[in-house]
Amino acid sequence: MARVKKILAYEIIDSRGYPTIEGKLILDDDQAVTTAIPSGVSIGKYEAYELRDGDPNRFDGMGVSKAVYYINELIAPKLIGVSPFKQQEVDSWLIKADGTKNKKKLGANTTLTISQLFVKAAAACLRIPIFRYINKLYFDYFKSQIKIKKIPTPIFNIISGGKHANNNLEFQEFQIIPSSANSFSKSYQLAIEIFHELKNQLNYHNVNISIGEEGGYTPTFSANIDALEIIKEAIYKKNLNLGFDIFFGLDIAASHFYKEGKYQIRDRQQLLGVDQYLEFIVNLTKKYPFLFLEDPLSDEDWENWKKLNQLLSQQTYLVGDDLLTTNKEKLIKAIKERACTSIVIKPNQIGTISETLEVINIAQKNNFNYIVSHRLAETTDSFIADFAVAVQADFVKFGAPCRGERVAKYNRLWQIEKEELNLK
Ligand code: PEP
Ligand code: MG
Repeated sequence: MARVKKILAYEIIDSRGYPTIEGKLILDDDQAVTTAIPSGVSIGKYEAYELRDGDPNRFDGMGVSKAVYYINELIAPKLIGVSPFKQQEVDSWLIKADGTKNKKKLGANTTLTISQLFVKAAAACLRIPIFRYINKLYFDYFKSQIKIKKIPTPIFNIISGGKHANNNLEFQEFQIIPSSANSFSKSYQLAIEIFHELKNQLNYHNVNISIGEEGGYTPTFSANIDALEIIKEAIYKKNLNLGFDIFFGLDIAASHFYKEGKYQIRDRQQLLGVDQYLEFIVNLTKKYPFLFLEDPLSDEDWENWKKLNQLLSQQTYLVGDDLLTTNKEKLIKAIKERACTSIVIKPNQIGTISETLEVINIAQKNNFNYIVSHRLAETTDSFIADFAVAVQADFVKFGAPCRGERVAKYNRLWQIEKEELNLK
């Protein structure tokens, strides 16, 4: 079996126009793989550290040349001649070499580059799709088989706000979720048709049709609820049934408008105390068919997560992203204390594929749902799509069905459905 001949990292520019790391691994049979690392903007407090240069004379401090140097000069030379099947050993070595709790020394972007390169190289070596190899890796780690039966249900963010846009909406992602009874191709088609109809509706109401960094529209409205209303209009215009064909989802990312025990949203004139805010959220779920509520509360408001979970968990996936940051300890605490029902999985929040799989294994064993997600700043690498299929995520969220770096991932799911799973 082939071994590592060369590993090389360099800067590329991501969808936000800032540098990120691309890595290339060449095997001694001359097969080569590449991978690139995404980056978040609405970042949870407990995420692993992303190493940036901080040099104001280059890319406003956003360069990653230090991380590239670490890979090329410190890490790569030690991995020459290593088998690409040594995923666990290599990941453990990276964790040890870093030696901090949050990858502060090497950076999670540095370690994840190597980790993903090993996955891709091993899959190339076996001449099997990446998702099949990750699925096998999961079995090798945990002696538990995840059967690949479906493409995860896609969640499409079609209006953006919060930290993801410069409009006035506090909620970060207004999402549509086609019924999971559909094939992926049908869901993709419906989402695209609604996305275009939404543009017609925005035009009709004389609202801005610019799209944001995840591909969703970024209109200005007098209330967050107006964004839901206009999406509802678009759904009806397409003769689709809200609550049957299509469901709503929200990434509220509430940590960003929570201050000193109060929530501030433009839907209400006054600052909302926790009880008033919870009442607002519960009423919202009575008015609209929400399948998915991500970070409805601040990551500092743990006690009220438990309260909301009791109120909503029968009907809605209550999802921790900023709350849990793909972190094993946080997930175990959430399971124990029944703080929510689901976790967002973002490999760069933790820094290696082995650790990401461990978090998924804990979720699996505890019947906790998991959603595999992109980041705001992305590249055209579709690795995350294969990853989501491999672990049979309950949902994926890769942004709007628009913009190259988003559709690269949805198109990969579509390709897997057509070519690999023979599903329709
Ligand atoms: C999110 O919050 O779910 C998200 C994808 O955004 P970011 O990448 O900015 O964390
Ligand atoms: Mg989120």
